[in-house]
Amino acid sequence: MSYQLIDGKAISGQIKEECRMKAEEYREKGIEITLAVVQVGNDPASGVYVRNKKRACEACGIRSLSYELPEDTGEEQLLELIGKLNADPAVNGILVQLPLPGQIDENKVIRAIDVKKDVDGFHPMSAGALCTGQKGFVSCTPAGIIELLKRSGIAIAGKECVVIGRSNIVGKPVALLLLAENGTVTVCHSRTKDLKEVTKRADILVVAIGKPRFITADYVKEGAAVIDVGIHRNENGKLCGDVDFDSVAPKCSAITPVPGGVGPMTIAMLMSNCIASVDL
Ligand code: NAD
Repeated sequence: MSYQLIDGKAISGQIKEECRMKAEEYREKGIEITLAVVQVGNDPASGVYVRNKKRACEACGIRSLSYELPEDTGEEQLLELIGKLNADPAVNGILVQLPLPGQIDENKVIRAIDVKKDVDGFHPMSAGALCTGQKGFVSCTPAGIIELLKRSGIAIAGKECVVIGRSNIVGKPVALLLLAENGTVTVCHSRTKDLKEVTKRADILVVAIGKPRFITADYVKEGAAVIDVGIHRNENGKLCGDVDFDSVAPKCSAITPVPGGVGPMTIAMLMSNCIASVDL
């Protein structure tokens, strides 16, 4: 079977271009969109993510403010900064790069962010809004997965959708979004009894397990669309996903590659959330 390769790089490029145009429209009306990016410590992976986010802001005409705090920053100190950013009318969005050092309670920090500036969509009120179909920020990776499906012409309504993984940042919100799009949704996790039996029912299979090349062809129905959220480096330093692409792709109607699938969508949707923050 020939499959459609879902091009996350191209789709994320379109979204960023749309964001750039909207930011320009706002600027003409005198509104400058500003994202505050907070990083605590100097974890190298976080450093790369933060740099990429700031670069995307620049490309989209969104102003980014950078707060780089030392590794030994106390919780109170960070909460104080968030309080200041919440109160600053010039700041539209606040992003605290995770993970935070052990002395800081991540959940407390997430809850401290004004829900109207919660562009990462991690605040319990944003999650609650998603759950109850109300207006609010949707976290970026799950939102990106839905955009990938929509912009690739893959209908969700009425489809059997299976999500593997139930994390707060990917599995649960993507399941809720697929449900909101009228999919029939099943969520699998580490305690699911017969994973293959469930995944083989999927018209749309979203894989967020965090285990390299775990999903092989025998987990996938002929003609399914497969979205691979995983990111890993293999023995040779090459990036790979949770899906064994070479064996699975020939069975699919559509599939995302790693890299170049879900990965680039996360930052594009962050830009989109920054734009949306003006009206929320
Ligand atoms: P996580 O570790 O928090 O969650 C993994 C989930 O998989 C858990 O809910 C667990 O129950 C389930 N699971 C584990 N083993 C299983 C098994 N054998 N069978 C069925 N389910 C099983 O991971 P996460 O934060 O959701 O991330 C998942 C993957 O996605 C990781 O590889 C991560 O690096 C990647 N990720 C990518 C992006 C992106 O921008 N592309 C963003 C976030 C996460």
